[in-house]
Amino acid sequence: MTLSTTMKVGSLTVHALETGIQRLDGGAMFGVVPKPLWERRIPADERNRIRMAMRVLLVEHDDGLVLVDCGLGNKEPDKFLGMYGIENRGANGRTQLEDALAELGHRPDDIKVMLNTHLHFDHAGGNTWIAPDDPVRRVQLSFPMAQYVVHGREYAWATHTNERTHASYLPHNFVPVAEAGRFRFLEGPSAEVVPGIRAIVTPGHTPWHCSVLIESDGESLLFPADTIPTAHHLPLAWIMGYDVEPLRTLESKRQLYADGAAAGWRVVFEHDADTVGGRLVQGERGVELADRVTRDENSPP
Ligand SMILES: [Zn+2]
Repeated sequence: MTLSTTMKVGSLTVHALETGIQRLDGGAMFGVVPKPLWERRIPADERNRIRMAMRVLLVEHDDGLVLVDCGLGNKEPDKFLGMYGIENRGANGRTQLEDALAELGHRPDDIKVMLNTHLHFDHAGGNTWIAPDDPVRRVQLSFPMAQYVVHGREYAWATHTNERTHASYLPHNFVPVAEAGRFRFLEGPSAEVVPGIRAIVTPGHTPWHCSVLIESDGESLLFPADTIPTAHHLPLAWIMGYDVEPLRTLESKRQLYADGAAAGWRVVFEHDADTVGGRLVQGERGVELADRVTRDENSPP
């Protein structure tokens, strides 16, 4: 099985990497949308969970390989993996992310920039890992040669949790990176990570959640992360119940569509198990997806 979908954005080569599957409560994924509506699009399992991807981006850039998000990682216990229906085990005790990199001829040491859209466990868990044969289970940086990048306010939010937010932030995914002095903290509403790759604050899911915009030679690719987690979340009102500020998610989506639908931006969805992405276009009843790219076309049985 091939674990990646490759596309060109101008002169840049971008790979969407499948780091594994998780299963989250369908009601929580669709907020106020009634189950009879969302269940028609994504069937729920016997525990009311829906199957979701943990898809990340790998950009071949002149400054080196840039990874955008890194999946769940390998540090969580079996009880956790069962609760969230995680399937991400890879070869050598690491994860499917490392397998996807290997398929493309890369190793974790080759990553030069590790950009986190936000620090929830299903996006930033792969920042660090524990070698399976390590008796003291030391948490190590997964990408020892990389500069790690996250918005500074997201880091502050992740390290000052409350009863509603703490379950999503597992300190071993990001505190060791900070303690090693390896984080570059972004500031402001929009920040260049490397030339042509920009983190744009799209608040709502978390107050400082970032979407990523890749631009090269007049072409653009949006990675909206949890602002639009699946193609089913394209309608403005289809917003996750997990979001801490859903009305700000609404405005973040509206702004992305104002910029992206007119220009025909490409898009890759982090959590859609079937649809890798496509192109944003203005339809009669709102923004729609054109030129849909699905997993099936890319993964021979
Ligand atoms: Zn999240």
